[in-house]
Amino acid sequence: MSINNSNKIHLFDSHIHLDDHNFRENLPELLADARTQNVCRWIIPATTVQTFKDIHTITEQHDGCYAAYGLHPYFIHMHTDEDLAILKTTLMQYDPIAIGECGLDAMIAEPNMEKQLYFFQAQIKLALEFDLPLIIHARKTVDLVLKEIRKHPTLRGVLHSFSGSLQQAEIALQHNFLLGFGGTITFERAQKLRSILKHLSLDNFIIETDAPFQRGAYRDNGLNYPEDLFTIAKSIASIRQEPLELIAQATFANTQKLFKLKDL
Ligand SMILES: [Zn+2]
Repeated sequence: MSINNSNKIHLFDSHIHLDDHNFRENLPELLADARTQNVCRWIIPATTVQTFKDIHTITEQHDGCYAAYGLHPYFIHMHTDEDLAILKTTLMQYDPIAIGECGLDAMIAEPNMEKQLYFFQAQIKLALEFDLPLIIHARKTVDLVLKEIRKHPTLRGVLHSFSGSLQQAEIALQHNFLLGFGGTITFERAQKLRSILKHLSLDNFIIETDAPFQRGAYRDNGLNYPEDLFTIAKSIASIRQEPLELIAQATFANTQKLFKLKDL
C-alpha cells in the first residue's frame, strides 16, 4: 500500500457529523484545519431521513468525505415505515459505503425499546440485502446489540464509540465488527476503556471524533472539532505505547478495508 512507503501521517475519521448545524457556516475552514493535523478522510453517518440530502451534498462538495445513511435510535420518536422506504431508495440512488448510524440506546428519555429493535432489525436486513457494513450506536445496550449481530454470520461493521467490556469486545470482533474509539479514551478516568484498548491487536479498531459531540479531555468546553482526531490518535498511541505512525497507518487501513474503499 502506498501509505506504507510514506512517513507522512494520514488519519481517517470513521465517524463525524459534518452535516451538524454547528459546522454548517464554516465547513471548508474546519476541514482545512483538520488537514493541517493530518486528517484527510471522513465518514459522515446520518441520523434521520432529513439529514440524507445535506450529507450527500457534503460528499459531493468536499474531497475525502463518504456518506452512510441510516436511522439513529436517538431519534426513534421520529422514524416511520415510510422513512425505512426512503432509506432503501437512498441506498439504491446514492450507493453509500455503509448503513448508519443505527442501533439501540437505553439512555434516551423514552427508549421505546420495542420500536428501537424494529428499526435496528430492519436496518440489519438492509445491510445484508445491500452487502453494506453497519455503523452501530450502542449506549448501555451492547449485550442487546451483540445478540442481534450473532444472528447473522455475514453481517459486518463497527461498534462506534465502544463502551463495553473486554469480553463484549471479543464477541464483536469474532462477528466481523471492529471497535471505534474517540474522545472518551483521552480522559484519564477512562481506565476500563484504556485497558481494553491495550489488549486489542492493531487490526481490531478504528478511530473517530463523533464531532461535534463527545469532546475529549483536550477541550474544557465547547464542541469537539474535526482536527481533534489528531489528539485522539496521539492519545491512543501513548496508551498503547506504539508510534503514532503505526496507529495512523493501521486505523486508516482498517477503515478502508471495512468500508471497501480504495487506497489514497
Ligand atoms: Zn454519531
